[in-house]
Amino acid sequence: MQKHLLHSPAGCGSLPLAAGKVVAPPLRAQGPVRRKTAAARSAEQQPGALSSGLLNKQFQPKLRTDRVIPSAATVDTATMVQSQRVYTFGKTKSQGDASMKQLLGGKGANLAEMSRIGLSVPPGLTITTDTCAEFHENGRTLPDGCWEEVLAGLRTVEAEMGCRLGDASAPLLLSVRSGAAVSMPGMMDTVLNLGLNDTCAAGLAKRSGDERFAYDAYRRFLDMYGDVVMGIPHHLFEDQLERLKAERRVSEDTALTAADLKLLVGRYKEVYKSLGKIFPEDPYEQLRLAIYAVFDSWQSERADVYRSVNGITGLKGTAVNVQAMAFGNMGLTSGTGVCFTRNPSTGERKLYGEYLINAQGEDVVAGIRTPEPIETLARTLPGAYQQLIDNCALLEKHYKDMQDIEFTVQEGKLYMLQCRSGKRTGAAAVRIAVELVDEGLVDIDTAVMMVEPGHLDQLLHPQFADEDAYKGDVLGTGLPASPGAAVGQAVFSAEDAEAWKSSGLPVVLVRRETSPEDVKGMYSAEGVLCQLGGMTSHAAVVARGWGKPCITGCPDLQVDEHNKIARINGHEIRQGDFISLNGSTGEIIRGKQPLAPPELAGDLGKFMSWVDARRRLGVLTNADTPEDAEEARKFGAEGIGLCRTEHMFFASEERIATVRRMIVAQTKEARLKALADLLPFQREDFEGILKAMSGLPVTIRLLDPPLHEFLPDGEMTDVCEALARDAGISVDEVYSTIEKLQEVNPMLGFRGCRLGITYPEITEMQVRAMFEAAVRVQQSGGAVQLDVMVPLVGTAAELKNQEQLVRRVAEQVMKEAGVRVPHRVGTMIEVPRAALQAGSIAKTAEFFSFGTNDLTQMTFGYSRDDIGKFLPSYLENGILPYDPFQVLDQEGVGELIKFAVERGRATRPNLKIGICGEQGGEPKTVAFLHEVGLDYVSCSPFRVPIARLAAAQAAVRSAKSKK
Ligand code: PEP
Ligand code: MG
Repeated sequence: MQKHLLHSPAGCGSLPLAAGKVVAPPLRAQGPVRRKTAAARSAEQQPGALSSGLLNKQFQPKLRTDRVIPSAATVDTATMVQSQRVYTFGKTKSQGDASMKQLLGGKGANLAEMSRIGLSVPPGLTITTDTCAEFHENGRTLPDGCWEEVLAGLRTVEAEMGCRLGDASAPLLLSVRSGAAVSMPGMMDTVLNLGLNDTCAAGLAKRSGDERFAYDAYRRFLDMYGDVVMGIPHHLFEDQLERLKAERRVSEDTALTAADLKLLVGRYKEVYKSLGKIFPEDPYEQLRLAIYAVFDSWQSERADVYRSVNGITGLKGTAVNVQAMAFGNMGLTSGTGVCFTRNPSTGERKLYGEYLINAQGEDVVAGIRTPEPIETLARTLPGAYQQLIDNCALLEKHYKDMQDIEFTVQEGKLYMLQCRSGKRTGAAAVRIAVELVDEGLVDIDTAVMMVEPGHLDQLLHPQFADEDAYKGDVLGTGLPASPGAAVGQAVFSAEDAEAWKSSGLPVVLVRRETSPEDVKGMYSAEGVLCQLGGMTSHAAVVARGWGKPCITGCPDLQVDEHNKIARINGHEIRQGDFISLNGSTGEIIRGKQPLAPPELAGDLGKFMSWVDARRRLGVLTNADTPEDAEEARKFGAEGIGLCRTEHMFFASEERIATVRRMIVAQTKEARLKALADLLPFQREDFEGILKAMSGLPVTIRLLDPPLHEFLPDGEMTDVCEALARDAGISVDEVYSTIEKLQEVNPMLGFRGCRLGITYPEITEMQVRAMFEAAVRVQQSGGAVQLDVMVPLVGTAAELKNQEQLVRRVAEQVMKEAGVRVPHRVGTMIEVPRAALQAGSIAKTAEFFSFGTNDLTQMTFGYSRDDIGKFLPSYLENGILPYDPFQVLDQEGVGELIKFAVERGRATRPNLKIGICGEQGGEPKTVAFLHEVGLDYVSCSPFRVPIARLAAAQAAVRSAKSKK
């Protein structure tokens, strides 16, 4: 993965005002990814804000004489008309709106929209996401005319603000923030307080009448700019700050005076010099390089990881938002905050957020000061609070969804800096969707579309079996940042979390705080525990987005990442110790606490009833045991689409021994004897499954895998000897059978219907077991719908052979019992030839079920067991967009499916058609299959609710598109 890092622009050149290409400084050669500071991260989440009471003061133009700042009129507008790359927003006019997310990014589009509907938003401009793509395509060069557009936009910002960039008498300060079409919290770069240099800082001090404020902004800018744009490690600035505080014998930053901060500014500049870097005094140069840095951050490793973990594809790049600063650090009537219009963990309809008085965004997450609950604002600045409440209500009504808002209060006046649809947990998503319908804000179709299949996935994760039972083991309590139960072994770094997880160990990641570099480790963990941070810290936001339990801000916890140990209320948690987290209550619990499966009740029950009323596709399950069948019914399965009978063979030593006897039998009599012994086991399981499904269709597949899979390894001499004794044959005969059954390519070998055709007695036994089980269920008053499925058919003759056998045995059993069992005989379509011959196969088959595991394997020619060896490089090189064994390949395998559906139904119009491959529960696949006209999908029990939702969303979407 290429890492795009900025090299320090040694001796920043003059301002490239002339039209033409503006080339970015060269990339640093391969090197470590620049670690983003908490300051930079939080600033992205909570940008500071604006040019002070300066806002209202009369603008007195006082241009520097050493260069010409072009006005809008002097800019060549011809290029702008052709392809506009910069869109302004502000009080007078916004060029963008909320519908332009792809082009302006979510932040840019919503800033424009908020300005449009009259909220107080500091004016600014957005450089489009297309420009980011052009920038990278052109070797990190801004396209022709773009810089002039930026300058023209800047003029409108200056006009509204009454101050100008680089004008010491009325300096305009800017924030430069990233913002892609899909929110990627904290993953890209931001610069605040841009526009300061020695003269502008002095000018700001004079104009605001607050010298301390001006030099605080200046030292923050030097730090953030150095870190984000010039690649200077943040800790070098932090060290200087700590040194000065020690010299002044103070512990809080706020205790430093204006003179101290001036001194600090000088020391920060020394940091630049000591690394051979020159701070660009020219604000225009600062701006140009900051824009490059934000574009570069689109390709940073952490952004890449976040996109791949979250499956974010198809975006062109990030937009850049250049906006007038609003200042939250202008005293006790100022501050900065983040809030959600409803609780993002539970969905409760109540403002939820944090606020920090006299602060800029970076202070919130840096952990230096703990933010206060949003209600504090109600007490300290009731006017601003009321305005915030009103704005939240307006935004919810306008966007018809819960909003995540960033704001700054500057000297009592509220400024809105961002709004977006808030990330939420699964529980919150469902509750919000249900309540928005009850409140009359959205209709049911819209509500159904608001919950993502991934949200349901979260809700289906286990909870603690008994929350009272562990109370004696609670070690301490932190903030319940993301709900749910997590149990795992403690690890103290993201790298360890990944490594342990990949060796199959469940882990809980324990950190002082998390940063965007930790995302992979967080993803690998069952849950995340952080000593620092609030409910809106990086860990909390990211974990909630994934539905991972997370606890933050635990004052009793001390995490020593270096020595891999945490201490809490006299207890020690060492690497590898099991701990449990209750992300809903914030409890940190000793040991491995038992978990229990979730339930579909309450709001979720109501929501799922809306879902079911909308979908056309049936949702069945793949289940091999009565327990799985019962579980799946609780999740709403409407039958069994695939019961792999061979899985039952491994249920006990006795069963597998009997199966092995059947395989090594040297005569037909011996094989029949073994099969007769196997029959009661199968009958018992089938009876349990049929009962659990009480009359819903149960599709039972005949034996599929190659026989050698059931035999012991030749090296396992004890087992081979026991098998020889058991089967009454010599050990040599066992070994030679094992050898004979070995295949070069077992997946294309002696398996599927090839077994039943060669050894009809195996099919006979299985069919007898199924029908005898069905007869028993019916005789005890139960209902049955039995569908017998023949696997791995490639020709019509194969199916005909097995179908005749099935029907013969079925008739025999029904006749013996004097009972008719409703049944159908059908086949899997999992060999490409079967798809091509669907028309003739449908003459015999009463149903089709697409076995897309094998169909994908044989269509691509990728072994399903070996794809892992090359899939990573295929994904990385863009040869495949995703793993086709997880998401159906619509272009190839999908075409075969469409063809088979058409041909099959041409022969037999009422042919029942479904899918039972792994892709059957994957939302994009479900949507495709809805369009293709399948009757049902079948997936594992836990994915049933997800498939139900995906099916409903597909139905709503296609109904809308037809309107
Ligand atoms: C399939 O091939 O899609 C299928 C469901 O069968 P199996 O995975 O058992 O081969
Ligand atoms: Mg198969």
